[in-house]
Order: sequence, then structure tokens, then C-alpha cells
Amino acid sequence: MLKDLLLNVTSIIAVVSIGNQLLINQEITPSSPLKLRVFFASMAGLLGALLMFNSVQVMPGVILDFRNIATILSATYCGFTAAMITGLMIGIFRLFFDGLTYTSILSAITAVVIGVGCAFIAKYIASTLKKWTIMSIYILIVPTITFSIMIDNQHLLARTILTYWLGLSMVSSLLYLYVRYLDLTRFLYRKYQIDSAKDHRTGLNNVRQFDNELNRIMHNLSDQSLITLLFMDIDYFKKINDTYGHQNGDKILEDLGKILLSSCSYSDIVSRNGGDEFSVLMMDCPRDKVLVVSERIRSTVQDHRFYLIDGQVINITVSIGIAIYPDTVKDISLIVEKADLALYEAKRAGRNRVMLSP
Ligand code: GH3
Ligand code: MG
Repeated sequence: MLKDLLLNVTSIIAVVSIGNQLLINQEITPSSPLKLRVFFASMAGLLGALLMFNSVQVMPGVILDFRNIATILSATYCGFTAAMITGLMIGIFRLFFDGLTYTSILSAITAVVIGVGCAFIAKYIASTLKKWTIMSIYILIVPTITFSIMIDNQHLLARTILTYWLGLSMVSSLLYLYVRYLDLTRFLYRKYQIDSAKDHRTGLNNVRQFDNELNRIMHNLSDQSLITLLFMDIDYFKKINDTYGHQNGDKILEDLGKILLSSCSYSDIVSRNGGDEFSVLMMDCPRDKVLVVSERIRSTVQDHRFYLIDGQVINITVSIGIAIYPDTVKDISLIVEKADLALYEAKRAGRNRVMLSP
């Protein structure tokens, strides 16, 4: 019997691994969007059904499997509603699995009772380990009661319960370790994804992400495209570092990142391209508005009181170079070069100014 239940275990591991791969980019919690929770709960419900197909027949009409593990998964990851859905789905599948009989109705009710119980356990217990342990004990007890009602033969009942308890305790413990390991890999995967796209100092896009975004924009270019690239560089930043120290320089970079982000619109792509150079990619912004926004950034920085670590206040200025496709650059592949040239011109003309590429 225990050997046959191994098939159940391999099904659980396979489905959980595939699910992990499918949802690797999603944060799965009880406060995830309802659609995602319903999807998760339905997948868990299908897992429950799959486990029934690999069940062990104890006696005619009585089958043994680990279907309730699917409800634990649903409750642990997606909370109350999901546990209810999974429990209900398993109940319905069980009802139609081998026809409407006394034992199938009893088993279906058991699945629903487990769904409701796990939903409440998930709702009122915060710690994942505690939740999992209590739910595991719950799904040991409830089916045991059902088996006691369904199986008259004392010897068979004892054997069934022993197998179920032994098997489920092992599966539940091993699966807990496995899903926690998957949680960690998903977390690290997302963290590396963010880290590889963000500048750690300012939280803005880094130069790699800037390149990706620019390539994407170039790729989707149409006749209606209006693309602006704004390069901004701090004036005499080396001197600031030399005078106030590198740590204060870092603080200024962080503050400048915030100013830039708050001066741009939500759809703009704001990046720190390296050192003291920042960029903004704007879509569908007419030339006049680009100049107004750039001038606003320049004057906001000029007027901003930058606080150093010791409380001292200093002022800095920035120079800005702009290129607009197809307004000032006809070939989009030259937009970086042209914006860079405009920035160079702004520096050459005395700094603290905005220059549009000719
Ligand atoms: P310019 O007006 O011509 O831009 O003069 P500048 O002194 O700002 O010259 P430049 O832009 O070439 O210098 C950039 C300086 O930025 C050089 C380096 O010391 C400093 N820098 C680069 N990255 C960092 C950083 O992460 N933190 C700090 N504090 N300084 C940095
Ligand atoms: Mg500079």
C-alpha cells in the first residue's frame, strides 16, 4: 500500500515543481490578486483530482491518497478563499470519481470540511510552519474519522489508518521542506532580476536596463513615434567629492535620483547611466513640453538644499543635453550620440543649462 502511495508523492512533487516554474515571477500570497489565487486554487484542485487517479483501493468504494495535501498548499499560499475552492473542487471530483455512493458522498463531505477547516487555520495563524503543522494534523484526524465510519473490518481499518498516518506525516514533512526551498529560489530569482536591472544607489534603472529599454523602443518604432532622450550630468561633481567626501557624494546622488524621479512622469524611463550621469527616456512628449520639463529639472536641482551627513547644506547644478527623434535626430540609432553631444555642448557653454541637439 505504502509503495503504491509513492506514485501520489511523485505526482505532488511534479505538479508543485511545474507550478513553481509557471509562477516564478508572481508573488503568491493571500493578498495576491483574486484571479491569481483562483488560478492557484484551481490548480491545487486539479492536483487533488490527479492524486485520486493514483489512489490505492482499500476496499470497494474506499480509496486512499494524499489529495488533502493540495488543500494545504492552497490554504498556505493563497489563504481562506483558495482553501475553500480547492476543498470544494476535490469534493466534487470525489463525488463523480466512482459514482454517487454512500462512501463517495462521505468522502466529498470530508474534502469540503477539510477545505473549510484549512481556510480558517490559514486565516488565523500567521507562521507558515505552524499553519502547515496544524493543517497536517487536521488532515490526519478528519479522514481518520471518515475511514472509521466507512470501514467495518477492524484489521483493515487499523492498516488503512496506519498507512495513511505514516505516509501523510512523511509526505507532509518532506513537502514542507521542498516548498520552502522553492520559496527561497523564487525569492532569489526575483531579487536577482531586480538587482540586475536597478542601480543599487538610487533605485533607478541601471545602464543595462537603460540599454534594454532603448532597444525595445527602437524595435517598436513607428511613423508616429516621438522619442526624447535626456542626459543629465552633475557639474563639478569631482570637486564635491573632493571637498565633502565620497559618502556625501553618494548621498547627493541618492537625493538627485529622487528629484529626477519626482520631476518626471510615471511613463518616463529614468536611469542612472553611471557615475554622476542620469538619463530620462520620454515617449510622445512634444518638444515644447520636453524643454519645460528639462528646465524644471535644472532649476529644481539648482534651488534644492542638499543636506550632507553632518547637516551642512550645499547647492549643486546639473547640465542637460537633449535629443528628440525625429525632431532633432532623424536616425534613432544616433539618439544616444546626439544627446551626449548636446550635454557636452551644455558643459562647454558654461554648465547649469539645458541644450537641445541641433
Ligand atoms: P563636469 O562638470 O565636467 O561633469 O565635472 P565633473 O567633476 O562632474 O566630472 P565628471 O562628470 O567626469 O566626474 C564624475 C565624477 O563622479 C568622478 C567620480 O569621482 C564621481 N563618481 C562616480 N561614481 C560615483 C559614485 O558612485 N559615488 C560618488 N560619490 N562619486 C562618484
Ligand atoms: Mg559631472
